[in-house]
Amino acid sequence: MMPTLSPPLGSILKCHVCVSNEGKMWKQVINCCAEKSNQLSENLFQLQKLIEKTHMRAEVICRGCKMQRYCSVSHLLADRPEHQPICNVLRELQRYRKIDHPLLLDGKINDRTKLQLVISQLKLILSVKLGRPLSPREHQLIGNPAVCDVCFSSEALEDCQGCTGVAFCCADHRRLVENNHSPQDCQTLALIASPFRQLDCFVNINNFHNTSKIKETHLIDAFFEATNVRISNTPWTDLESFQLFATCSSFSGIASLCLAMTHIFWVPDPKRAVVVYVVGATEKTLNYFQDMHLQFLFLQFANIQHIQLHFIGKTLGNIGEMEKVFQVKDVQRTVIERFYPLSFSQFSCIFNVDPTLILILQPDFIGAGETIQNMVDFIKKQDVDDVDWQEDCLSSILRSVGVPICYTSISMMQAMSDFTAIDSLAKKNNISIERAYNLTENPYREILPLLNPCPVDWERIVYANNYLEVVFTSIKKY
Ligand SMILES: [Zn+2]
Ligand SMILES: [Zn+2]
Ligand SMILES: [Zn+2]
Ligand SMILES: [Zn+2]
Repeated sequence: MMPTLSPPLGSILKCHVCVSNEGKMWKQVINCCAEKSNQLSENLFQLQKLIEKTHMRAEVICRGCKMQRYCSVSHLLADRPEHQPICNVLRELQRYRKIDHPLLLDGKINDRTKLQLVISQLKLILSVKLGRPLSPREHQLIGNPAVCDVCFSSEALEDCQGCTGVAFCCADHRRLVENNHSPQDCQTLALIASPFRQLDCFVNINNFHNTSKIKETHLIDAFFEATNVRISNTPWTDLESFQLFATCSSFSGIASLCLAMTHIFWVPDPKRAVVVYVVGATEKTLNYFQDMHLQFLFLQFANIQHIQLHFIGKTLGNIGEMEKVFQVKDVQRTVIERFYPLSFSQFSCIFNVDPTLILILQPDFIGAGETIQNMVDFIKKQDVDDVDWQEDCLSSILRSVGVPICYTSISMMQAMSDFTAIDSLAKKNNISIERAYNLTENPYREILPLLNPCPVDWERIVYANNYLEVVFTSIKKY
């Protein structure tokens, strides 16, 4: 089992305690299934009760922040210790600015641009006052606040029955929301709000079948060809469908690598190992390189028999070396995995850098998702784990002359800022950049939608690995 990419979400109008209890209960049920424990029926009964409770409207709104919602006073009290710090800051802010709701920080909100602006101001104020980055649930509370989708009022709200992902304040606005809210939007939001998102649920696939034309197809079809597993159109309706959907989504990393490899010219000599540096790797990155994913790669490339994967990332544990052997399409294939808890610049000082390809999955060269300049400056002052992407590290990647560098980004804005960071640093170092391949919509992006954590970005819903770019570097000639 591996963790999913997204933090727990749940609906904006639901009781926070009930939603996280439901998530915990699902986890217990899954464990019972795996262990074939006789506790299962009791747990299923409790889960059913919880689901009914989670579906009730949360009528109790915290009086301090006026934003967090609960089903009952007892759940409000139960959540006090965790919610208190952010609540105090929001309460103080309202008192100081003499406003009735944190979202009124800049006066009444009339349009989405203003809403996004206020959200980013609030996030900035909160992280400064709290002296730390916001937690996923705090990001969710501020970044996706409960307001009418039409008039942005925060009073007397009801949510869309289909997805519980948008709200409206009155019957008129409900009609307007429903007109603008396509069935597809509704499904995407339902998938984001699904309690299954809190679970670590993947299915392990052992049998692999057909190769795909990687340049011509996309994740869902390539996954189907490879595994014979068809995923559901309504994956939020039951756990099994959701698990398969999430499993398919997890093939995004390896399939993006396959796509990048088909665009790079090299003479594949089956005896020689393909050496991939996975730079900026974290625990999350490793989820993309499970045995099933590696077999998918071998399935697509008949002439690759040996792969070396070097995971380079400061937060990685010292796992040592692993060797794996697979039989794919009647050919024996081997993988050697090495793990380096180093930044790439440290790595390049110690080791001889000579990979076939450098892969960076969702870097954030500039900041931590918040791309506007003042946020970047603020975040840089903080001791964030993203030190990997400080200049010297990126410079050493760029100095790997002639090696294709592939990276993915979550949104168009992030992709542009990643490229800007690369380009300006390259200029400074007299390196020229050749863009070999650039995809605005990667057909192998993840299929699990995410709410964009960056409030100033114009895309509200994003997907991991949504954008894919392959660049080569060379030393400038005069
Ligand atoms: Zn509750
Ligand atoms: Zn509160
Ligand atoms: Zn309204
Ligand atoms: Zn809906």
